[in-house]
Amino acid sequence: MSFTNLGLSPALLKVLSEQNYSKAYPIQKSAIPAILKGNDVLGIAATGSGKTAGFVLPLLMNMQNRLVTKNRHITVLTVVPTRELAVQVNEVFQTFVSGLAKPVKSMAVYGGVSINPQMIGLQGVNVLVATPGRLLELVESKAVHLSDVQILVLDEADKMLNLGFKDEMNRIFALLPQKRQNLLFSATLSDDLNSITQVLLNKPVVIKITPETNILSQIDQVAYFVQEERKGPLLRYLIKTKKWKQVLVFTSSGFKADAVADKLIKNGIDAEAIHGKKSQWVRTEALRQFKAGDIQVLVTTDLLARGIDIEFLPCVINYELPRSPKDYIHRIGRTGRAEAPGEAISLIAPDDEHHFKIIQKKMGRMVDRIETDDIDLRGF
Ligand code: AMP
Repeated sequence: MSFTNLGLSPALLKVLSEQNYSKAYPIQKSAIPAILKGNDVLGIAATGSGKTAGFVLPLLMNMQNRLVTKNRHITVLTVVPTRELAVQVNEVFQTFVSGLAKPVKSMAVYGGVSINPQMIGLQGVNVLVATPGRLLELVESKAVHLSDVQILVLDEADKMLNLGFKDEMNRIFALLPQKRQNLLFSATLSDDLNSITQVLLNKPVVIKITPETNILSQIDQVAYFVQEERKGPLLRYLIKTKKWKQVLVFTSSGFKADAVADKLIKNGIDAEAIHGKKSQWVRTEALRQFKAGDIQVLVTTDLLARGIDIEFLPCVINYELPRSPKDYIHRIGRTGRAEAPGEAISLIAPDDEHHFKIIQKKMGRMVDRIETDDIDLRGF
């Protein structure tokens, strides 16, 4: 379906065509009209389904009539769980604000970097994309005010509403006006989220594009069964023989991510590791280079499991499995995005087998099994 009949302005349609968005993805087809009508929306959509543009486009239309003009009082607040996602969502806002009649300024704020430039940069900002901790710091120092927020977006809503962010989110909710439009988007819907959204949302339009288990239809999943000590050589064998343009490798700790990346580099593979213990500058730069195709292998933790969009990423490898089956779905969803195919490989050692069975059961899908004992890994 084309974007033309969804109620968007000609100027936004022009930006869409400049971006080569020729047809609206299903989440966009459903969410855009519902948000334009001013409804609260709960959108459950696959990662990579285009949900960001699904809320950014109609929300920009809506905010034009409700633009708050007081300096440092923002009109649209989007809260996200990670710094990388804040930058990415803000880029989508920045792409589309050029199609608005009134000038609108958007900005991303997140921790791990100096607060002062953010305080200065918040002059005249209307749309803010933020991680919770830094947002509260900025509110406390009066660099930004949330009392006039007209539209609230929670991206990766299940993550934002679970225990880890609970206190910070409650403090943020208390700063917002009661009357506002609420948009919650998530790739997975937990029971928790169900009960909280009932409190947070006012008669929401619920849009569920694909059941969680079908998210993965275009991702080809395989499991390589391998002895623990052969995981490293097998990873290098796969990277060298399959000749993927790019690979995202997940480990369960930052320490392991560094160790895996070091070994890859020593074996002549162009790799970099990023995780929560690296400086924000290093994280941002490595992700930028990987997104630009300048690094072949990025090794990371669940830091990058959610929401991060890497265009045409052909392959994700679970060097180690995540604890939660949901995180498995988020991780492998970094490939197979924007209607492109993708491959997700898990390296399963004997000790991982039981947990992998649980993941497959929760996912409702069995993964093809490949034995690796006969693969000659000498030299890798
Ligand atoms: P998201 O799920 O919002 O992270 O989007 C995933 C990717 O799909 C991003 O690279 C978007 O730029 C791209 N995208 C979103 N909507 C469309 C569309 N209608 N046509 C083409 N690409 C799109």
